[in-house]
Amino acid sequence: MFIPKFETVLDPTALEFIGAKQQIFIDGEFVDAVGGEFFPTSDPASTRQITEVPLSDTRDVDLAVAAANRALEDPSWARMLPSDRQKLLLDLADLIEAHGETIANLETLDQGQPLWVSEAVQVNMGVDYIRYMAGWATKLDGSNVDLSVREPAGMNFQAYTRREPVGVVAAIVPWNFPHLMALWKIIPALTCGCTVILKPAEDTPLTALYLARLCREAGFPKGVVNVITGTGPEVGAPLSGHPNVNKVAFTGSTATGQAIGHAAIDNMTRFSLETGGKSPVLVLEDIDPDFLSPNAAMATLFNSGQQCVAGSRLYLPKKRYDQYMDRLLDMAFWLKTGSGFDRTVHLGPMVSKEHMDRVMGFIERSEEAGAKIEVGGNMVENTEGFFVRPTVLTGVDHSYECVREEIFGPVICVMTYDDMDDLVSKANDNQYGLGASIWSQNISKVNMLIPRIKAGTVWVNCHSVFDANLPFGGRKLSGMGKEHGRSAIELFTEEKAVCIAY
Ligand code: NAD
Repeated sequence: MFIPKFETVLDPTALEFIGAKQQIFIDGEFVDAVGGEFFPTSDPASTRQITEVPLSDTRDVDLAVAAANRALEDPSWARMLPSDRQKLLLDLADLIEAHGETIANLETLDQGQPLWVSEAVQVNMGVDYIRYMAGWATKLDGSNVDLSVREPAGMNFQAYTRREPVGVVAAIVPWNFPHLMALWKIIPALTCGCTVILKPAEDTPLTALYLARLCREAGFPKGVVNVITGTGPEVGAPLSGHPNVNKVAFTGSTATGQAIGHAAIDNMTRFSLETGGKSPVLVLEDIDPDFLSPNAAMATLFNSGQQCVAGSRLYLPKKRYDQYMDRLLDMAFWLKTGSGFDRTVHLGPMVSKEHMDRVMGFIERSEEAGAKIEVGGNMVENTEGFFVRPTVLTGVDHSYECVREEIFGPVICVMTYDDMDDLVSKANDNQYGLGASIWSQNISKVNMLIPRIKAGTVWVNCHSVFDANLPFGGRKLSGMGKEHGRSAIELFTEEKAVCIAY
């Protein structure tokens, strides 16, 4: 397998960045963590250490929260014209675009995903997202409200609402799409006039630290953007429970989201949670197998299954099961796994050994329980990296752990259904409710199904399509609150009612 040396693949700026001492970003300055300690971050394709980053703790959290609170009140930010805020965001988008190659390199190195994914998702989607969101900075509004107050008689009122920044935002993000997830949190917060403290995941801190450089270059006033690296317990938990943080915006696992919600509620800190998923893929019998197979495969396997909306429960109609399965297995077999720097690769490694072991554990326990491994089911040989082959499991039902739980790896569980009622009941029989996709050209059946599916997003003849203007968020254990579009503005503002007597 092609496992490159860093020097042979990285662009000069990425190479310079990983060679430099890493520092956290607080109050407009790059500084060491107070404790002076570091932790390593590694390339999951080769297991080689890339660099080490500061191991922050509660002392750094306190400093970042204090800086963000000062910046919130500082006229340079608090009184900045909305059009100037919009311009700053657009400048940041331009910088990210100009540094796109470096960002994509760093992400592929640290996360493992193929370079084409880093380029398309982390950089291009990220830039589009900022440019969309920046437009909202000049469009925050309220409404005039008519009152029917009877007493005291003869008194008149003018009432209206205004949207104000929610305040200091802690943005806590996972490792699957680190740069994009960070942007999905900090950009709407900044658009609304909030200040932010970004905490990246332990496994993928590099693009967050690089983003801090670009925020400084764009000219955000000091303390408006802060980035601190460290562990969940030492940084994420004290941030979520901090009395001077006004809002936690979180993407990650359901268990962590629940812990954050508990910590936040003690201070009535606002929180929004984008958490786990186990999305169903509903295939109706009219769909062309050649169209379905690459789409159904990538619904789960994209980013090696490390995506919250992975369509890892695939429901096929009994009548055409063999046809659909033949094509799907061909596809899963054909996909190439390897280093993200190899341009011919479709799937990169798992993000860490711990995660690879977790995914393999699901596969092994499924087999022991009676599942049949149609393809894959093993790690990739002759490599040090954390690779798992695309895996298709059959002979499973809803009593299986692999069907109930989020695996977050390249594993598709295939099942069948009898009729539409059976399909709906199976699709909804899960604790999560993030996404679902329906595959059919039968518009009547599709329209009958859409309202019956308990999920935050239903895609038809596509899966994992995101847009800055399309609300995204989960039902059930998949989260609380909707990101993107106008919904994102509501997440990062408080509505104030104003009542004037005259
Ligand atoms: P995780 O919950 O382990 O970690 C996410 C972040 O939370 C990390 O930065 C981590 O350091 C931090 N953290 C850990 N413990 C904490 C605590 N007690 N308090 C505060 N912060 C803490 O999740 P992960 O393993 O990094 O990411 C995978 C999960 O993310 C999957 O479950 C996936 O479904 C979910 N995810 C959801 C979405 C979505 O939009 N719904 C998108 C991407 C990923």
